[in-house]
Amino acid sequence: MRNGSCLCGAVRFTIVGELGPVSFCHCGMCRRWHGAPGPYAEARREDVRFDAPDALQWYQSSSFARRGFCRHCGSSLFWERLGGPMLDVVVGALDEPTGLRAEQHIYVAHKGDWYDIADGLPQQAEGSSGAG
Ligand SMILES: [Zn+2]
Ligand SMILES: [Zn+2]
Repeated sequence: MRNGSCLCGAVRFTIVGELGPVSFCHCGMCRRWHGAPGPYAEARREDVRFDAPDALQWYQSSSFARRGFCRHCGSSLFWERLGGPMLDVVVGALDEPTGLRAEQHIYVAHKGDWYDIADGLPQQAEGSSGAG
């Protein structure tokens, strides 16, 4: 079980199931949303419980996906394929120790021109879920 929250603490959540490996998404949308590559770990939607769902706001960022953030402090918290069973959790929102490790970089073909990736992890030019 893992807990997480936004910067101001209005959005708190608990993940009762497993989290997938951590991927850094370098797509242009994540870059703007996070101000940097976005670190995500995938959970089953039904395994995530919210303490204060009213503080969680959703922005539909493409025809097939939406992004969840705190309506008070603006913290970036979730990415979700519309109607899908999974929820991508922004790893920086989790309480530590997370017990997680970064495992790969995705959408590297779209990465910002102002940084290098030098950690030796596998890099994929694109991704499997679609940038949205
Ligand atoms: Zn907040
Ligand atoms: Zn992305």
